[in-house]
Amino acid sequence: MQIHRIPVLSDNYVFLLHDAATNTAAVVDPALAKPVLSKLEELGAELVAIFNTHHHSDHVGGNRRLLKQFPKAVVYAGAEDRGRIPGQQVELHEGDHVTFGDRTAQVFFIPGHTRGHIAYYFAPVAEDETGELFCGDTIFAGGCGRLFEGTPAQMVDSIGKLRQLPDSTRVWCAHEYTLSNLKFAVTVEPSNADLQQRFTQVQAARQKAIATVPSLLGLEKRTNPFLRWDQPEVMTAMGQGGEAGDEVRSFGKLRGKKDLF
Ligand code: ZN
Ligand code: FE
Repeated sequence: MQIHRIPVLSDNYVFLLHDAATNTAAVVDPALAKPVLSKLEELGAELVAIFNTHHHSDHVGGNRRLLKQFPKAVVYAGAEDRGRIPGQQVELHEGDHVTFGDRTAQVFFIPGHTRGHIAYYFAPVAEDETGELFCGDTIFAGGCGRLFEGTPAQMVDSIGKLRQLPDSTRVWCAHEYTLSNLKFAVTVEPSNADLQQRFTQVQAARQKAIATVPSLLGLEKRTNPFLRWDQPEVMTAMGQGGEAGDEVRSFGKLRGKKDLF
């Protein structure tokens, strides 16, 4: 499975999955149809699936037009997003599996950013494959999505599930927010050497307009405060100790501070 990253709008990424053996394609969160149609034409591939992570228009905006061109494509999204996803045909729950080409993805129900958000995780099977996580607006490189429809406790639970995946997992998040996320992250953990090094690298990359997505889950675990809410350094920075509920309060404070940053 080849993954093509298509930058659209001001900072969105749409991901086109291509299975060369069958010359079929699937798209994750098509904000727009046109750039996806161009890529499909370039590959000469047929679109067979649309995988949506959540209902926001910068993730589903291209569904209808893509379906018009490829009426047989199947639209997948979370069961809790029923009625909010244009053309949705399959309602997915935690633990469901979906297939594309010779790969299978496990579905995670990860409410927090929205109440219906899901992620797709393609586990590696062959030796030359890596795990691929499509997590929409839940984990960003160096950050996480805003809590529009969910609570800190839900987001802790959701990110907690994704955090258990292997460090080598590639994290395909839907926005290029990395630089501003890391500007905030270094204020939380100024003495985290891995984070400082990453911040320097990302500043250089963004100056040359180089994309910072996909990220690696191992790197996120070491440097992203929103995967580190329960680490002693972060807990202390958020004024939390070891009382019951302090971990969730630490996450809530982090998210609150980032909202105002
Ligand atoms: Zn969103
Ligand atoms: Fe978004």
